[in-house]
Amino acid sequence: MLRLPTFTYLQPKTLKQALAMKADAGPEGMYVAGGTDLYPNMKRRHQEPKTVISLAGLRALTRSPTVSRSAGPPDMVLGAGLTLTELARHRKVRKHYPAVARAAELISTPLLRNMGTLGGNLCLDTRCNYYNQTHEWRKAIDFCMKKDGAICWVAPSSPRCWAVQSSDLAPVMVALDAQLVLVGPAGERIVPAGRFYHNDGINYLTKQPDEILTAVRLPPPDGWDATYWKLRRRGSFDFPVLGVAAWVRWDGSQVADARVVLGGVASYPQEIPDAAQALRGSQLEDEAVTAAADAAFRPSKPMDNTDFGLAWRKEMTRTYVRRALEELRGRHG
Ligand SMILES: Cc1cc2nc3c(=O)[nH]c(=O)nc-3n(C[C@H](O)[C@H](O)[C@H](O)COP(=O)(O)OP(=O)(O)OC[C@H]3O[C@@H](n4cnc5c(N)ncnc54)[C@H](O)[C@@H]3O)c2cc1C
Ligand code: SF4
Repeated sequence: MLRLPTFTYLQPKTLKQALAMKADAGPEGMYVAGGTDLYPNMKRRHQEPKTVISLAGLRALTRSPTVSRSAGPPDMVLGAGLTLTELARHRKVRKHYPAVARAAELISTPLLRNMGTLGGNLCLDTRCNYYNQTHEWRKAIDFCMKKDGAICWVAPSSPRCWAVQSSDLAPVMVALDAQLVLVGPAGERIVPAGRFYHNDGINYLTKQPDEILTAVRLPPPDGWDATYWKLRRRGSFDFPVLGVAAWVRWDGSQVADARVVLGGVASYPQEIPDAAQALRGSQLEDEAVTAAADAAFRPSKPMDNTDFGLAWRKEMTRTYVRRALEELRGRHG
């Protein structure tokens, strides 16, 4: 049985207390929300915080989806502490942001969705077959660059880690151009989801370690549509080995703007500008969909560090982009 190491567990009641506890704990402190990623990782000694600061008691993070009418058309604010189940089931999220609800309900299992949160999902550690193993397994190969070792077993001459971004909600938030609200010692800042990630398996977030993701602002549902398609081996359980988030803004029967974002093929949610370019001005007719699918296929470079064969996963990029866009075309009246 894998056991957790010994650590100090703190339960702040306010954001201010949480930030102060993190400042006291220094680099050896980490936040936890649902713990469905952090605790398994601690059992395998991927992360070894001496102090774990729970965000579960912070009311600022757990407010239900609310409609904000501050300026312009109403948008929606999601507390980062909402569970994936709450997100997947919320009536207004399902109605106005079905891609968000779909991505949430495709994550892992019902039990994990009851514990796992939106914030934890967006901050999810990157994954790799050589990393998501027990400490003993990793020790037997002398570890790897991401933790305790010197070499990357996936690309031994590479100076960087290629562990894969495996969150289902991250590509959706980038496609929607959601705004992430971060609170740190210097106050609050808002970062577009597309700038929250680095293409680096180790330093995969632009967030500072002491910053807390408090909320996600979704744009008003005014004339755009989006969807999410996920590829995995076991439909009831597994992480994505490919995720496709597609977003289009309609102007009558034409696509005024578009975004296509891939998950599971790089260390960050990878936006494909050439696919968007192929869709602008189109009616999502077959030629445009094929051009966008080809444009996504070219830069999609899955590495040999997750499930299924590389070439097949790359080919599935084309198929899943096509299916996502055909779904959007099919429901545009
Ligand atoms: C068997 C299994 C299957 C899974 N399948 C999937 C899957 O299919 N798709 C998928 O996307 N995920 C999957 N997961 C991963 C995980 O369950 C989810 O991503 C979940 O949403 C993580 O949320 P959490 O609150 O439990 O995160 P935690 O474990 O609490 O935290 C994860 C990381 O985020 C940080 N963090 C958490 N909240 C905040 C915050 N508000 N501000 C700043 N930092 C924060 C923590 O410090 C930690 O580094 C799976 C996990 C398991 C064990
Ligand atoms: S990509 Fe390389 S460095 Fe990164 S976790 Fe995998 S083996 Fe380790």
